[in-house]
Amino acid sequence: MCKKMMLITWAGLLLFVSAVHGFENKRREMVTRQIAGRDISDKATLDTMRSVPRHLFVPDSQQAYAYHDRPLPIGYGQTISQPYIVGYMTQIIGPKKGQRVLEIGTGSGYQAAVLAQIVDLVFSIEIIAPLADQARKIIEQLSYDNVRIKHGDGYYGWEEHAPFDAIVVTAAAEYIPPPLLAQLKPGGKMVIPVGSPFMTQQLMLVTKKGDDIITRALFPVRFVPFTRSDKQ
Ligand code: SAH
Repeated sequence: MCKKMMLITWAGLLLFVSAVHGFENKRREMVTRQIAGRDISDKATLDTMRSVPRHLFVPDSQQAYAYHDRPLPIGYGQTISQPYIVGYMTQIIGPKKGQRVLEIGTGSGYQAAVLAQIVDLVFSIEIIAPLADQARKIIEQLSYDNVRIKHGDGYYGWEEHAPFDAIVVTAAAEYIPPPLLAQLKPGGKMVIPVGSPFMTQQLMLVTKKGDDIITRALFPVRFVPFTRSDKQ
């Protein structure tokens, strides 16, 4: 290799390393200020959010904002949730090794990756096919081999892999889909935004105790709407 080529290669490598380092610093700061700095204290949740490269789950045009305190557009009119909301929804289900978790609304795949670093298996359903494909690609590239992504209507859950220790719904539904309740293990927890689309909804925690369903309203949120299709 000639001297000039070597210089260019080194300069490229240096730029790449400093960019990666920059994102890592921003990510640490995001966790310190927006997640631990608020009311998230679960160690597993904080550790996973310190490590999952959120900037790789957003379009290139949004990378600079990946660690900001807000949701971001991911295409097809959908959004990746604000980091604090991801942290909150992760902590509240009490994620642990050995569990299998169902997510409805894969979107970018970020919430699935955050869960995948803690629990044994993550099943995630996305209703918009290109988003499901895109999320599958980045999940594969980052070698999360315990995440399964399916294109379909999450209303029906994923019967074949039920029951689940926890269910995380990341689109606002008018009511809690009965198939999801049925696929929750006794003692299992579901977190779901409930309310009218395009209005403020309530984030709800649903706990299954024997045959009883206990629901608790957590706080007002704004999520993209839970839509429906014929494809299960
Ligand atoms: N968890 C995502 C957030 C995505 S926003 C992330 O980490 O990026 C919510 C997603 O739910 C959107 O991509 C939307 O297309 C999807 N969605 C809406 N209704 C759905 C349904 N019935 N089944 C599956 N996905 C649905």
